[in-house]
Amino acid sequence: MKIIIVGAGIGGLAAAISLHEAGLHDVTVYERSTAIRGLGVGINLLPHALRELTELGIADSIAELGVEPRTLAYYNRFGQPIWHEPRGLDAGYRWPQLSVHRGRLQLALRDLAEARLAEPIRLDHRLVAVASNDDGTETATFATADGTVEATADVIIGADGIHSALRALRYPAEGAPPWGGLTLWRGVTRIPAFLDGRTMIMAGDADQKFVAYPLAPADADGRMLVNFIAERRVGGTGDADWNRAIDPAPIAELFRDWNFDWLDVPTAIATADEILEYPMVDRDALPQWTFGRTTLLGDAAHAMYPNGSNGGSQAILDARTLAFHLATAPGIDAGLAAYEQARRPAMTALLAGTRATGPERVMQLARERAPQGFSDIDEVIPHAERAQIAADYKTAAGFLPEILNDRPSLTPPSGIAR
Ligand SMILES: Cc1cc2nc3c(=O)[nH]c(=O)nc-3n(C[C@H](O)[C@H](O)[C@H](O)COP(=O)(O)OP(=O)(O)OC[C@H]3O[C@@H](n4cnc5c(N)ncnc54)[C@H](O)[C@@H]3O)c2cc1C
Repeated sequence: MKIIIVGAGIGGLAAAISLHEAGLHDVTVYERSTAIRGLGVGINLLPHALRELTELGIADSIAELGVEPRTLAYYNRFGQPIWHEPRGLDAGYRWPQLSVHRGRLQLALRDLAEARLAEPIRLDHRLVAVASNDDGTETATFATADGTVEATADVIIGADGIHSALRALRYPAEGAPPWGGLTLWRGVTRIPAFLDGRTMIMAGDADQKFVAYPLAPADADGRMLVNFIAERRVGGTGDADWNRAIDPAPIAELFRDWNFDWLDVPTAIATADEILEYPMVDRDALPQWTFGRTTLLGDAAHAMYPNGSNGGSQAILDARTLAFHLATAPGIDAGLAAYEQARRPAMTALLAGTRATGPERVMQLARERAPQGFSDIDEVIPHAERAQIAADYKTAAGFLPEILNDRPSLTPPSGIAR
């Protein structure tokens, strides 16, 4: 089976590795950039993604790039604690959670994919068209610096991100990703370690929020590399460019009162090397991913708000699920159908839950019920209500510990004919 993957991001590279490990070796990855530069700031991989990386045999080489957060903690905009919960192994999962720099993750996946692929990743190949052939194959057309290039395969996987060309070919009237009205400022800074040095924090509410988590253990001087996302409802264009750098000073000013006794937010923002501005955009759920023998994967299929830290993890789950079904189904069409059946309804539900602020709903409730802060959170949001919100999101995202730990593996049984 000859397979084309469009896009060498997290999902496309995970798909290349997953297909190879499933015994499907005739895979070529096409990427529109002229080099894979490892861009971005921090990203979280949740236990359901770490399970897949573990079963692919690559978790150790990825884990050494980041930090395993032990706790996720929510605060109001005065730094008062609302909810905290254990994460990863401490939460009873058989696999950890990992906070990692997206660029380092992408470069590591590239190296792992290239070590397996028969052909190098084709850079400077931008997908512009696809066409079905009478024999059931699909032909992709790529724009390159030297003109257009065609390639034919049995399956084409569109892993080309939130601005997916394959998705636009299937849904030409869709337009730009819808903007929720919030702007995100993402950065990496080196600041004194906060709390236990292994906690991911979120402070604020749906109008203004600050998220931070360590990307490396604290140095001997007690400082650590921290990823942050500051967000606020402001005017803007909603134009989604991952790499737009801006001056940190005015953003730090927006958070000038957020100097908690356990974290100095304005200083964290002001001392960032670089701040990248990005609108809070996602994509609407789709009624269909697979057309002929082309399908969508990762952000191309279901780009979602980052508030559940789930974009990269779900792309990896897509990759493993698709590889499993292509390797085990009685034919290509059945494999693609089984992949879509396994993933699309689940992602439709997760997109809706993430738009409804996902697990961060506790922060919004605290704001609505106690806008000036509180002395006892139990009087504002009873413990049972907070626990239910956390559990509901994990159920929608498929990572309740007992379900994830017991779910059958997506590694195809050995010895099946392909
Ligand atoms: C530059 C960049 C920086 C990012 N930074 C962060 C971050 O800091 N934090 C975070 O949580 N998420 C970040 N993301 C998004 C995150 O990687 C995804 O949400 C998630 O990992 C799902 O991955 P994906 O492979 O579906 O999409 P992506 O990782 O976005 O990968 C898509 C790939 O497809 C390529 N591509 C696009 N169009 C075409 C085309 N027409 N032909 C061929 N190739 C094409 C892109 O160049 C890219 O390499 C970033 C994405 C990008 C592209």
